[in-house]
Amino acid sequence: MILIAFPLINLLISLFEFSNLERTTKSIIFKFFLIISSLILIDGKLISAQTNNKIPVLNPSTGENIGSAPQCDKNDVNIAVESAHKAFQKWKKIPARERGKMVAAGAKRLEERKSEIETLLSLDTGNALRTQAIPETGASIELTNMFAGLSGELKGENYPTNIPNSIHYTTRDPIGVVCAIVPWNAPLFLTVAKIAPAIVAGNSVVLKTAEQAPFCALLLSEIFQQELPPGVLNVISGYGEECGEPLVTHEKVRKVTFTGSFTVGKIIAQKAAPKLCPVTLELGGKNPNIIMSDADLDIAIQGVIDGMRYTRQGQACTAGSRVYIQEKIYDKVLDGAFEKLSKLKMGNALDENSDIGAIISEEQLKRTLHYMDIAKKNSTTKVVHGGNQPSGDDYKNGFFYEPTLMSGVPVNSPVCQEEIFGPVACAIPFKTFDEVMSSANDTPFGLSAVLWTQNLSRALQFVEEIEAGFVQVNQCVAPRANVSYGGLKMSGLGKEYAFDSMINHFTQSKTILINRGKSNIDS
Ligand code: NAD
Repeated sequence: MILIAFPLINLLISLFEFSNLERTTKSIIFKFFLIISSLILIDGKLISAQTNNKIPVLNPSTGENIGSAPQCDKNDVNIAVESAHKAFQKWKKIPARERGKMVAAGAKRLEERKSEIETLLSLDTGNALRTQAIPETGASIELTNMFAGLSGELKGENYPTNIPNSIHYTTRDPIGVVCAIVPWNAPLFLTVAKIAPAIVAGNSVVLKTAEQAPFCALLLSEIFQQELPPGVLNVISGYGEECGEPLVTHEKVRKVTFTGSFTVGKIIAQKAAPKLCPVTLELGGKNPNIIMSDADLDIAIQGVIDGMRYTRQGQACTAGSRVYIQEKIYDKVLDGAFEKLSKLKMGNALDENSDIGAIISEEQLKRTLHYMDIAKKNSTTKVVHGGNQPSGDDYKNGFFYEPTLMSGVPVNSPVCQEEIFGPVACAIPFKTFDEVMSSANDTPFGLSAVLWTQNLSRALQFVEEIEAGFVQVNQCVAPRANVSYGGLKMSGLGKEYAFDSMINHFTQSKTILINRGKSNIDS
C-alpha cells in the first residue's frame, strides 16, 4: 500500500489543480496508478522490482511528482530476460497468423482504453493532449494493427537451383529475445514501432522505458500483453548505464533496437558488438527545411511551423531546425512564420486548449537555455519570435519555453549545427540551390529533409542529392505507419515503421537445400 500511496497523493494534487479541465478520464488514471505505479511487467504480471531504488517522475507542466518508477539494475534485467527467453520457446512455434491475430486483439484493447492512455501520455511527457498525445495514441494503435495484418507476409523465397532433384529456399525465422530501448519524446509510438513487429515476427521482448516518461509505455504494454502468452512482452524501467547496458549485453538478448541520441547509440553498438548482436539505431538529426523562392508560400510557411514540431516543443528527431529561405522571400517567410507562431497557445499539456505543452524536464529546459545563451551572445542574432521562458502563474513551476525562431545566427554556430531537441530554430538565407544543398549536407547527421518548390526538376535534383534517410517535397508530415523511416550517416542504422523493418530487423534468414533423390517410377 505504501508503494501506491505516495504517487496517488501527488497525482491527486496535480489533478485538483486542473479540476476545471473537461477530461473525465482523470478518474481512470487514478485506477491505473493504483495498479501499476512503481511496478514492472514480468511474465504477464505487474510485480515489484528487485531493487528498492526509485526514479521520481515529474509532470513537466507543473514540476510535480506524479509517481516513481523502479530504478532497475542487472538483477531485474536478468529476471526480465529469463521470462522473455522462456516465453520465446513457445511463442516462436505459434503460427505467424495466429500471432498476428493476438496482436490485433491487443490493438483492440488499446483502442478500448485509448482515452486513458492518451491522458497518461500527456501527463508523463508534457506533450499537449489535443495536438500530440491524442494523435500519437491513434498512430500507435494504427501501427500495431498494421504489423498484425502483415503476419502472413513473414515468408522466405524460393531459388532455382542447378543441382538435380534439389529444392532451394529460405525461411524467415524469429531471432529470440529482443531488447527495445526507447526515449521519452514519443514514448508510445516508438514503443509500438519496436514491440509490434518484433512480437508478430515471433520474438519475445524486454522493453526498457525512458526514465523521464515511463508510465504511458508501461500502461500501453500492460494492456496490450493481456492478449499474449505471459512473458512475451516484459517491461522494466531504469537509467541507461545501470539498466540499459546490462540488458544490451545480456547473453540471451539476440537483437537490440534502440531509439535515442547518437552518443548513446554509439555506446550501444559497441556494447552489442562482442556478441555480434544485430542492432537497429534510430538516432538524432539537425534537419534542413528549405524554401525556394518559387514555393507556394501558403503551405511552405505552415511547413516551417509544422516541420519544426513546435507543438511538441521541438522535441522531435525530425524537427526542421535549420530553416533555409531563399533571399528573395526571406522577410516574407519570417513575417508569415511570426504571425503563425503568435497564434499558438502554450499551456498545461492536459488542457485541450493548449497547442504547445511543456519541455520534458528541467535538464532539457537547461539545454535549450544553454543554446539560447550562445545565440544571444552573438551580435548578429535577431529573435524573430519567442526567445524567453513565459511568465505568469500558468507556467510557474513547469518547464516551458516559447516557440523560438531566430535569424542571423552564424551557420557554423553550435546552435545551427547541434541537435538542441527544444523549441528553437534558426532561419538561414541563401542565394542559390547549389549553395543551399552544400550547406544542408554539411552535417554529420542525415535524418530528414524537406524542400518547398514548384519546380519539378529542382525537386528531383534535391531528392537525388540530399543526404537524408527521410525526404519530403512540399509537405512535412511526421513519420507514421507504413512510412519506412530511418537515418543516414550519424542518424542511424536501419529503418522502422514499415514491413521491411519487421523482415529485416526482427527475423533471421535460413537457407535450405533439400535433395529429394531420384524418384522410383515403379513404386
Ligand atoms: P538518450 O539517448 O539519452 O536516451 C534514450 C534511451 O537510452 C533512454 O531510455 C535511456 O535510459 C537509454 N540509455 C541511456 N544511456 C544508455 C546506455 N549507456 N545503455 C543503454 N541504454 C541507455 O536520448 P533521449 O534524450 O531520451 O532522447 C532524445 C534523442 O532521441 C534525440 O537525439 C532524438 O533525436 C532521438 N530520437 C530519435 C528518433 C528517431 O526515430 N530517429 C526518434 C525519437 C528520438
